[in-house]
Amino acid sequence: MNRNNTPTQDSYDVVVLGAGIAGLLLASEISKQYSTLVVEKGLSPPKTKYWLTTKDAVKGNPDLDDESLISRKFDSFFIADSQQRNRQVRGGYYLWDTNKLVDFLCDKISKNGGHFLMNHKYYSRRYESDNIVVSVNQRDISAKVVVDCMGFNSPIIGANSMVDIIGYHTVCGATVPTIKEVDPVAFCNLVESGHAHYLEIFPTNEKTAHVVMIASSEEPYPFDKLLPEFLFAVENSRWSQYFKGTSSEMLPLHGVIPVGTRMKTGINRVFIYGEGAQVHPASTAAGLTQILQSYRRVAKELGSRIQSNQLGGKSLEGISVDNMSRFCSRIHRSVFGDYMGWTSTGFSKLVNQMGSLSDDVLNGMLFGDLVAGDVFSFENLYRLIRSRNTILLRHGFRALLPGN
Ligand SMILES: Cc1cc2nc3c(=O)[nH]c(=O)nc-3n(C[C@H](O)[C@H](O)[C@H](O)COP(=O)(O)OP(=O)(O)OC[C@H]3O[C@@H](n4cnc5c(N)ncnc54)[C@H](O)[C@@H]3O)c2cc1C
Repeated sequence: MNRNNTPTQDSYDVVVLGAGIAGLLLASEISKQYSTLVVEKGLSPPKTKYWLTTKDAVKGNPDLDDESLISRKFDSFFIADSQQRNRQVRGGYYLWDTNKLVDFLCDKISKNGGHFLMNHKYYSRRYESDNIVVSVNQRDISAKVVVDCMGFNSPIIGANSMVDIIGYHTVCGATVPTIKEVDPVAFCNLVESGHAHYLEIFPTNEKTAHVVMIASSEEPYPFDKLLPEFLFAVENSRWSQYFKGTSSEMLPLHGVIPVGTRMKTGINRVFIYGEGAQVHPASTAAGLTQILQSYRRVAKELGSRIQSNQLGGKSLEGISVDNMSRFCSRIHRSVFGDYMGWTSTGFSKLVNQMGSLSDDVLNGMLFGDLVAGDVFSFENLYRLIRSRNTILLRHGFRALLPGN
């Protein structure tokens, strides 16, 4: 089945709505056993994102641990404030090759017998005996279960008030040609400002770098305010020495990443997965790491519910969609509350205080692997108190409070 062709079949075991990375990963696994259709409103799967994950995220995913899918491996990246103070964070990281990863997953789904319906928008659903029927453009498609991978803007999530969003990271940039080697930068508060925003630079293996400006705010930040900041960084700032400049041929990178609390992951015959189901990670890097760590298990649990026809809301809610500890999710939410309001001076304090954290704690915070024991280990607590790390101490204790 060519993924651009329209399948003639009107009934599937599973319909996956949304061909983002979460939809493709889940479909690549569930289609091994169940007839699967992937529906995407765009002309093709979106390629406006890139992903940095931990190296550990591919543990348990041997077929993805393939050199050809990974653009670059890093063993460190920088965090910098507007006063050019740096903190280097060490660890093992993979920068995925977006095009190759997406193509690899699409081919895998096709080889498993899965079908694609591109340029088709989901807009409503109804129930018929033991099936759910979804309407996409002019077609009605029947399924045993639907997996909603349409992200936080999903009409199903919106209609059922399934998330409580506290803010957003708005991301705006491009893949830019480089003229010399540049170190990876996870966030750099380049321009001193009353509303700190951050530059991110990840060099690829093709003499380019993914360069974006990120602003975090209660409402999505206007792209037209971020774009000039990105252009300034690439063309006129101290970083411009690394780039050829901007041109209309650059590949755009953009999107809005929600931060909040997920209320539900299942309603009758609809299971939510991906960004819409894990909105709490406040770090932009936590998304794909969490999805990679969970999608095989999630597909297996969903399969067993299809087998036993236990596809009611309660049963689907029982599938745990992420591996993030409750402590980590609370700390993300808590830190993000401050983060949105930080000025450059507040951000400098953060970079300064990061100096006293171990690489393990920093990686745990950024990629969503933090557990209370990491923060409150004897050795770490001593470091935090000695360096007066009020940010992590305050948020750490708050995350431990019951009901928080
Ligand atoms: C520029 C950028 C850089 C990022 N970098 C990182 C990173 O380094 N590491 C990391 O882990 N995360 C990163 N993220 C976060 C990233 O968004 C998530 O990790 C992940 O891509 C979410 O994937 P998803 O499939 O859940 O959602 P999405 O990618 O949003 O996919 C949802 C899909 O559903 C489709 N859709 C929506 N509505 C409908 C409809 N009605 N009918 C049919 N289809 C519909 C959309 O067109 C889209 O294709 C980045 C995000 C951006 C924007």
